[in-house]
Amino acid sequence: MSDARALARAYLEQQRLVGGDTVVLPGDSGLGARDSGGSRSGALPPSPESRAPSPAAAPSELLPPGLSFDPPSGDLFSTDPVQQAADLGAVARLVADCTRCRLCESRTHTVPGEGPVDARLVVVGEGPGRTEDATGRPFVGQAGELLTKILAAIDLPRELVFICNVVKCRPPENRAPQYDEIAACTPYLFRQLELLAPKVILAMGGTAAQTLLDTKQALGALRNKMHRFRGIPLIVTYHPAALLRNPNWKRPTWDDVRIARRLLDR
Ligand code: SF4
Repeated sequence: MSDARALARAYLEQQRLVGGDTVVLPGDSGLGARDSGGSRSGALPPSPESRAPSPAAAPSELLPPGLSFDPPSGDLFSTDPVQQAADLGAVARLVADCTRCRLCESRTHTVPGEGPVDARLVVVGEGPGRTEDATGRPFVGQAGELLTKILAAIDLPRELVFICNVVKCRPPENRAPQYDEIAACTPYLFRQLELLAPKVILAMGGTAAQTLLDTKQALGALRNKMHRFRGIPLIVTYHPAALLRNPNWKRPTWDDVRIARRLLDR
């Protein structure tokens, strides 16, 4: 089998893992996938090798530089307990008792985030939904299942990733968190990122991207660039909940997470 064909098969199989339908390549017995809404002609998506990052190309060559946000980090002499939190458990305990914003009034559980302290990838979403509020765990509903598939498709078991949100309490009726709620909660997120010091951050959705990059730019304008948060490479992509509503975004999301994977592999 040619290298190009092997690459195409791998690409289509990964597309299938993130939710695309199965496509049978000419001469194959049923590998690969297409995005929902795409053609089921049996032909490949246009030039998958040309869409995929070249194996020889460095990720920094694939994306133009984007924004850089460098908020002040923890101060040893600060009296703020969040700044003084020595580890992720200490942050979670502060979150559990937090009443800094109105979201504390309606929460069932706080959802500080979960994952290993040595995670190389941190995924940041917007805020807990109903299932997360009920369980205290991030990304455990339908969107969470899709995130697990997305991570598996880049050979990254969910258990190796730290997953959290911008706000740690569920906004009522799943509304977007408001500006003052985000401002009240970001010290926890920033301290978590400081303690984790991951190799790559994946911001999923506009709220995460705008918060971590201190910008009002829309998600569409922030994709396809390599941003930095305190010097850490940051990739912006769609939130899994948005993918459930719009399957056409699965392909660009797949492109984004592959970039994140390649940054991890550097
Ligand atoms: S959302 Fe954040 S700031 Fe608001 S109460 Fe919950 S933990 Fe505190």
